[in-house]
Amino acid sequence: MPNSDGSAARLAQSPETDKREMSDIDETYIREQLEKRREELKAVVSTSAPAIPAAYLLGLLSDVDSALHRLEDGTYGICTECHDTVEKDRLLADPLVQLCLDHLTNDEQRALERDLELAARVQRGLLPQTDIQHGDWRVHYQYKPAGMVSGDYCDLIPPASGDGDLFFLLGDVAGKGVAASLLMTHLHAMFRSLAGVGLTLDKLLETANSVFCRSTIAGQYATLVCGRARQDGEIEIGSAGHLAALIIGRNGVRQVDSTGVPLGMFATSRYTIQNVRMELGESLVLYTDGISEAVNASGVEYGAARLSSVASERYGAVPRELAAACMKDVQAYSNGGKQRDDQTLMVIHRAKPGQIFLDN
Ligand SMILES: [Zn+2]
Repeated sequence: MPNSDGSAARLAQSPETDKREMSDIDETYIREQLEKRREELKAVVSTSAPAIPAAYLLGLLSDVDSALHRLEDGTYGICTECHDTVEKDRLLADPLVQLCLDHLTNDEQRALERDLELAARVQRGLLPQTDIQHGDWRVHYQYKPAGMVSGDYCDLIPPASGDGDLFFLLGDVAGKGVAASLLMTHLHAMFRSLAGVGLTLDKLLETANSVFCRSTIAGQYATLVCGRARQDGEIEIGSAGHLAALIIGRNGVRQVDSTGVPLGMFATSRYTIQNVRMELGESLVLYTDGISEAVNASGVEYGAARLSSVASERYGAVPRELAAACMKDVQAYSNGGKQRDDQTLMVIHRAKPGQIFLDN
């Protein structure tokens, strides 16, 4: 696609908008959506609601018909301007779209910009405080979207009563841009509701997965790691296909691997919970693949090993310092290259008594 400076296109197109061919599942879904819209439109036309001009309705109907024809002859999802593919997430959101992001009109670009700004504001409003203190636990996270909105999910839910567990979550929705950010807000609402119900962690993940499966369209999924930090230093962790969590200890780094498949893949998925003991001074580091898959100028990925080693050099550091050191190293590694994916990193630290936290 030719590059335009149209800022809406740049903003919406978080770096690597998915340009693969439409899969069979997506085509079936889009066809169903179009046929449903045609039926609805016909019903409205036949009742001839006077408030809606007939020409407008008939115009829409003909747009739907022509989209169905394009599905038949294999030209569906091709930009009428440049003949490149239209972004898949945009087609799923609006099956009538015929122009790629680079070829929107000025008015369309401005409307898109306004929508994105609003979406970004909504999303920022959902983030928890960046520094949380609960018993011995000190938590800090850094959240860095690649575009205006992010498909990364991050939340911290302190207990309703003072001595309960601190609940932490970090996830990554497949895909990027607006569609991914909408799913992120969906995860947020779902876990906020479920966290108060009093389920065990495995049941909570199972329930969240089954709700997510039933409420998203085929092919949408998310990896997630979540857990409960208890006052006695034990942490319960469950992971739905997410990258291994790292425990930064005095004598090196321990890994907590995933024990389940991503949310949204199978409605009947089960999750195994692991219990880990964190000593005073240790930190648990959770992150998304925007960090481990950041590339240098030669296209080589940053990798989990380098993250482990940078983090372990900061054993005992306060969470804000540890997180900043990691993010700084990732940035230095990418050497000013464009951030390709959303990056989120969370540090959950079990503080030694008397440790000073300037930022809390
Ligand atoms: Zn185009």
